[in-house]
Amino acid sequence: MNHVILQDQSEPIRVGKIVCLGRNYVDHIKELGNEIPSSPVIFIKPASSIVRSGEQVRIPDYSSDCHHEVELAVLIGKTGSRLKEAEAMDVVAGYGVAIDLTLRDVQSRLKEKGLPWEIAKGFDTACPLSDFVPAAAVTDPHNLQLTIKVNGEIRQDGNTRLMMRTIPRFISEVSAIFTLQPGDILLTGTPAGVSRIVSGDQVEAEIEQVGRLKIGVA
Ligand code: MG
Repeated sequence: MNHVILQDQSEPIRVGKIVCLGRNYVDHIKELGNEIPSSPVIFIKPASSIVRSGEQVRIPDYSSDCHHEVELAVLIGKTGSRLKEAEAMDVVAGYGVAIDLTLRDVQSRLKEKGLPWEIAKGFDTACPLSDFVPAAAVTDPHNLQLTIKVNGEIRQDGNTRLMMRTIPRFISEVSAIFTLQPGDILLTGTPAGVSRIVSGDQVEAEIEQVGRLKIGVA
């Protein structure tokens, strides 16, 4: 599955690249014992990692510690390269709810060796996504409560105002590296409270004004 729905458009949108920001909330940096980065920590998930709400995720057998990370997803609607912060929000088409599934045990081993993270972050079903709402439907993307529940119990409860890099700053920085194209998606980092999910769990993420995302763990 490599398409998403934008609520005011009749046709599904084909996703290009999913560019993700790591370490964007101080409380989450502290819980993992990481340093606050001076430049953005960026990685990419392939579009093949997308699953939609209502579907099941599969934890690969090379991991025994898969974590949920609830994140605000930004859908890009226009091509943009080397954008200034002041013009960055012009390329935003909509917002959605994402879960950046992360194989924490695998990622920790890769980090120790300075190796890339794709097998911990980009495996099949590693990117659950809700439908997207048009950008105009969101009053202020930097003041949205985001929560995730596992089997009905709240695990993460944060607010996008706690992001260190704002969305226009992230767009500006990313667009200096990768040309942003319609159908690209940005994940903006996760607040504290990440924890393990296991087979049989029901996971429900919600961002106010944006939507809900429900997945089961196969
Ligand atoms: Mg993340």
